Amino acid sequence: MIATQTLLGENEPAPFELINAGGRSNLVLVCDHASNRVPARLANLGLTEAQLNSHIGWDSGAAAVSRILSACLDAPLLLSNYSRLVIDCNRWLIAADSIPQSSGGVLIPGNGVLSEGEGLVRRLTLFEPYQAEIAALLSNAAPQCVLLSIHSFTPSLFGVDRPWSIGVCYRKDQELARRWLAALRVNIKGKFGNNSAELVGDNEPYSIEEGCDYTIPVQGESRGIPSIMLEIRQDKIQDPAGVQLWSDIIAEAWLSMQDQ
Ligand SMILES: [Zn+2]
Repeated sequence: MIATQTLLGENEPAPFELINAGGRSNLVLVCDHASNRVPARLANLGLTEAQLNSHIGWDSGAAAVSRILSACLDAPLLLSNYSRLVIDCNRWLIAADSIPQSSGGVLIPGNGVLSEGEGLVRRLTLFEPYQAEIAALLSNAAPQCVLLSIHSFTPSLFGVDRPWSIGVCYRKDQELARRWLAALRVNIKGKFGNNSAELVGDNEPYSIEEGCDYTIPVQGESRGIPSIMLEIRQDKIQDPAGVQLWSDIIAEAWLSMQDQ
């Protein structure tokens, strides 16, 4: 068995990055799929750089949006520093795609023959510290805090186009989701006009699934903390202007909800 401390080399980043821990916003931001980094000793899991850069490796653009939101709303933000292909920080450990054998139709060679010990090392080195930090953030947060998980999605999956520019994904907290949906739609109309083709997905492209999603159900819902996930379509946030625009739309939506 590989010792826990040897999964990450001395010069590799910690499993997570915590920004603005003392932020005064009621929002607690998390970005489970912020990075496509693979620990050097896992040799890119046998994938090419292009594969790791694609949507299977990470939520491209999500970290950039999260950082802007953290700064402009003065909200704490936790970002995972490693690819979901190493271990998915938003999956139950027993889920088949916790350490996926394949993703988006691509086989992951480095996950093919994995001993229980190797899986445990990834869990103890990356998943557990990240989730423990979310728990710590939430236990120190204001009683009225809201957990907001920022993700991005590929415009097309298995040949099916996804028309939404942004999606509000939720399960228990339907009232909070309704307010987000309304605020985002108003904001988007304000930015793009009344006939805007920018669609806001209602539990699209994903909903929160039992036994699949981890962060929202376990860290938020089980604590009684209002929790939702925002999914932004990746082609909207691939350059600084797009990142700024969609960060503004989200931030303004949140601020408008505070005025109500
Ligand atoms: Zn994601």
